[in-house]
Amino acid sequence: MIFDVITIFPEFFCGILEHGLLKRAIGGSYVSIRLHDLRDFAEDTHRSVDDRPFGGGPGMVFKPEPLFRAVESIQAQQSGRRSRVVLLTPQGQVLNQRRVEQLSREPGLILICGRYEGVDERVAAHLATDEISIGDYVLSGGELAAAVIMEAVARLLPGVLGNQQSAISDSFAMAAASPGGGEAAGLLDFPQYTRPAEFRGWKAPEVLLSGNHQQIREWRAQQALAKTYKNRPDLIERLPKEA
Ligand code: SAM
Repeated sequence: MIFDVITIFPEFFCGILEHGLLKRAIGGSYVSIRLHDLRDFAEDTHRSVDDRPFGGGPGMVFKPEPLFRAVESIQAQQSGRRSRVVLLTPQGQVLNQRRVEQLSREPGLILICGRYEGVDERVAAHLATDEISIGDYVLSGGELAAAVIMEAVARLLPGVLGNQQSAISDSFAMAAASPGGGEAAGLLDFPQYTRPAEFRGWKAPEVLLSGNHQQIREWRAQQALAKTYKNRPDLIERLPKEA
């Protein structure tokens, strides 16, 4: 999987790529992340990539030309299936695990990070294949959103997580519930406990210490359902009817 990130702040990604899952995914050659400075595709000597909005109003807007040039130069180096072009924007479709699973089957993604008041609408209309939001709130730039997509997608790629079962049984996972694990696809994960068995008088559920795997599976399935009803009843309403 190749991620091409277009940003005016390539250095923003330093910490994220040097730690944890993305570092392991890069080190293991499961993903390749290429950072492209949008200013390298500006046409003037000041390397300007933004301008005032037509019609007035506060702030600046990313001009279309540098973004088209950046994406087209990346595409010119691609052979075979083209990467989807994802514009990060609060106006996009809200990301969820199902969409992440779809994106993980792509050969690559070109991620466009906006800033300021946003991006000239001709980019959404004529360049991007997808407009994605990471939630109903507004960030100052698309870089964090791009990082969220890269991490969520990378952890689904075969081999990236040491134990792939973990991704299959995570909250929201639709791909498959773990075999015999008792979880239904699309629910929240079951509650987890670890040592000590008692902390400040609060005991871990006895069933988890019983060694009875059948009872543990049943308890976890009930708890996952109960937690989903309590915190995210919308997930249950959205489940396929046959689930
Ligand atoms: N004026 C825009 C609006 O109200 O829709 C907000 C622009 S925002 C301050 C600047 C940039 O941050 C956007 O172009 C986008 O790339 C990014 N951004 C902000 N919130 C986001 C979100 N929820 N999901 C994805 N990207 C986001």
